[in-house]
Amino acid sequence: MPKSLYSLFFISVLIFSCQDSPDEDHSNYNSISTYIPFKLTTDLDALSQNEKNILPHLFAAADIMNDLFWVQAYGDKKSLLASIANPKLREFAKINYGPWDRLNDNAPFLDNVELKPLGSNFYPPDMTKEEFEELGLLDEKGLYSMVRRDEAGKLYTIPYHELFRDQLEEASGHLLEAAEICEDQELKKYLELKSKALLTDNYTESDIAWINMRNNTLDIIIGPTEHYEDALYNYRTAYEAYILVKDKAWSQKLEKYIELLPQLQTELPVADEYKQETPNTDAAQLNAYDVIFYAGDCNSGSKTIAVNLPNDEEIQIKYGTRRSQLKNAMKAKFDHILLPISDILIEKNQRQHITFNAFFSNTMFHEVAHGLGIKETINGKGSVREALGETFSALEEGKADVLGLHMITQLKEKELIAEGELMDYYVTFLAGIFRSVRFGASSAHGKANMLRFNYFKDQNAFTRNNNGTYAVNFDEMKKAIKGLSAQILKLQGDGDKAMVQEMMTSNGIIKETLQRDLDRLSEANIPVDIVFEQGLDILGID
Ligand SMILES: [Zn+2]
Repeated sequence: MPKSLYSLFFISVLIFSCQDSPDEDHSNYNSISTYIPFKLTTDLDALSQNEKNILPHLFAAADIMNDLFWVQAYGDKKSLLASIANPKLREFAKINYGPWDRLNDNAPFLDNVELKPLGSNFYPPDMTKEEFEELGLLDEKGLYSMVRRDEAGKLYTIPYHELFRDQLEEASGHLLEAAEICEDQELKKYLELKSKALLTDNYTESDIAWINMRNNTLDIIIGPTEHYEDALYNYRTAYEAYILVKDKAWSQKLEKYIELLPQLQTELPVADEYKQETPNTDAAQLNAYDVIFYAGDCNSGSKTIAVNLPNDEEIQIKYGTRRSQLKNAMKAKFDHILLPISDILIEKNQRQHITFNAFFSNTMFHEVAHGLGIKETINGKGSVREALGETFSALEEGKADVLGLHMITQLKEKELIAEGELMDYYVTFLAGIFRSVRFGASSAHGKANMLRFNYFKDQNAFTRNNNGTYAVNFDEMKKAIKGLSAQILKLQGDGDKAMVQEMMTSNGIIKETLQRDLDRLSEANIPVDIVFEQGLDILGID
């Protein structure tokens, strides 16, 4: 974007950064992350009148996910917000759904706030792992329950649909109202089933209806979905919602890659025993969307730009997954964060390789890569997820990034990808690492990026120039991408948690030189992420 327009955005960013704080006593205020505002809109002409009529019901249902996620992430939203006098800090608490800076390793940004519990508010803050595991509660690994103490201090689990009954009945009612007037039969059925699922915590039928929807332009993802917020165990899922409008032209472009999935699985750079599972390609889908509303988990801290759902592995095997690329949110991050980062950290004569197409493709193949490899260990340790426990997420994200890039390399060499040159994907990827490590070690994506940065550095995949810019070394980069992919696929297949932990400890960290370079980005006031201005009014619907 033109420089003048950029500085306009920059003014609003200052809302969340350090200048002129009236609350001198907030010692951490100077280091809180900066967000750049972005309006969520789309071409409304893509929607029929009926779809436009449905929107207010979907927005009402989605908005309730904000309140539920507040409880899961922190607790009492109202009293926290009421206790913050400074309006800027109050806004910042809303972005973070609590008093911890998600993009700064969850550092507390208010006085008298304890460190964030690993298990967020899913578990009592004073609970230890030993206490929990000894007890062997019936729903110990439950995806849809919270852990609480009774009056005697004894731990018990309570299902979401009981704990949140009032709010869920309301959300469910809005979905039903949407279903009643919905003309698209597939979407209608999905909305009915999801309306029911919110009240029972049984999501199987609604997940199947969702993955089988093919022709709808309008979509909503709503309910407890991802497990990252439970960093203690990665068991419990967090409420969120996305309202989406399909970009049909882009989605068609993506369809062609689906046909290549089986071939990609057989060509994984790892021994045969690690690639025995077959991804279900009949039902695998790649679509591009504009997001018009984010709520809850996906709206907290760094904003998701690609989603791979459903998470239910039995459904994945039977029906496949849908990988949704959130195009308008991606373009916002590319323009307002990635390009300015590149201007500072990428060697001048490689900057021409930073392209939105490469950024979009790298993210797309990240999602494809999640569907490849294996889900069961090869040595009887059960599923990879179980065997790797709390280290699973960071490693799986790391796999997706680097394996995605390996696939692009292969497809490009076979001339199955027309756009750009391979170097575009590599340089854009390197710039993307700088963007993502800024999310800090508290995020699975952040940790995965640090690991990879250090691995690439060891392999000489890039050079850091004396002037503080970085340049990709093409051949070494290509080799390192393949090498790291192979290493991760093997660790997963072996379910080798001890080794993963060792890797995370030694390499999942930001070292000194990189930290100094990241500080230069902060000094240049480059935002870490975006915050959405969203709603029916922003969309232009009354
Ligand atoms: Zn991912």
